[in-house]
Amino acid sequence: MSYTNCLPAWSVGPDCYGAVYGIVRRFGSCAAVIGGKTALSKAYAPLSLALAGTAFSLSEPIWYGGNATYENAAELEAQDAVKSADMIFAVGGGRAVDTCKLIAEHLDKPLFTFPTIASNCAGCTSLAVLYNPDDTFREHHYGVRCPEHTFLNTKIIAEAPEELLWAGIGDALSKECEVELASRSEALFHTPLLGAQLARSCTAPLLKYGASALEQCRKNTPGYELEQTALDIVISTGIVSNLMTDARYYYNSSLAHCVYYGATTVPSCGKAHLHGEIVAFGVLALLTYDQQFAMRDRIARFNRSIGLPVTLKEIGLTEQDLSLVTEKAAEGDGWTNAPYPITKQAFIQSMLDADVAGQELLAAGASQVS
Ligand SMILES: [Zn+2]
Repeated sequence: MSYTNCLPAWSVGPDCYGAVYGIVRRFGSCAAVIGGKTALSKAYAPLSLALAGTAFSLSEPIWYGGNATYENAAELEAQDAVKSADMIFAVGGGRAVDTCKLIAEHLDKPLFTFPTIASNCAGCTSLAVLYNPDDTFREHHYGVRCPEHTFLNTKIIAEAPEELLWAGIGDALSKECEVELASRSEALFHTPLLGAQLARSCTAPLLKYGASALEQCRKNTPGYELEQTALDIVISTGIVSNLMTDARYYYNSSLAHCVYYGATTVPSCGKAHLHGEIVAFGVLALLTYDQQFAMRDRIARFNRSIGLPVTLKEIGLTEQDLSLVTEKAAEGDGWTNAPYPITKQAFIQSMLDADVAGQELLAAGASQVS
């Protein structure tokens, strides 16, 4: 069977919009600029400035509609400024970019992305996560192509809320251990084989640079550590995602995201905590389930150092919630993505054991302080 796989390309740095014209000009001379309101307020002016004096023109900023829905995409596609543009510039976080993926695909126009936060890999994946107009999850849409190029402006990312970067670190921590577990016993052919190798480079930079990156975000100063962390969250995990998933196979998530899916059934967790925050505890549960205790403890210490959760309580869960969490978790895409059968009882136990280890860590920290 023949297949196509597209890989992301990127520019990064506080002045990376300076590279835009040289890259986009081969695709035409005008872009429809679509994004979130805050994102557009941050990115539109520097983008216009970077293109000033060139033969390239931008549309007025166009709000994407507030959610990644087929309905919003259809409305945008009908606008003259979008129809007549040579290409789409998607500005913002995950949902704005995912909406633009639909538009670019339907109108068959090239897509360029301008992430304004480093909290997920939507900026360079072919996958779009779609919602219903009432904000309930609708489906995953697997696009044919990923965006042509991603411009990761670290000055803008440094000015974004630190909490989003923090949760982005928590989510990205799952990539290496989930892909490894999901693909461990598989005879991988070329493309996922490549992805499984690249996944190995996702955790170490987060542990090394994550804390300094958050500090730089807090001070709005885009330094080396913030750049390395943003590249990890947006680009590395995105490349892995593009290599580890297509219509025939799915190695992109496993037990850490199962914890997340399960936890969304408990309002004190799912409504009160960010995706990446819950996933960060899921990583500890996965590593506990797989008996990788040394790595589990290493990541737990890191989580603790930057305030990501290490206990159930920190994500609003109690022991009594875990059977409900597990029923839902077992319906998740990643439940069977493991080299051995996952049982509900052992899954509950792994969350409890991770929680005990986390409580010990908190107690040790408290005694150090006193
Ligand atoms: Zn995630």
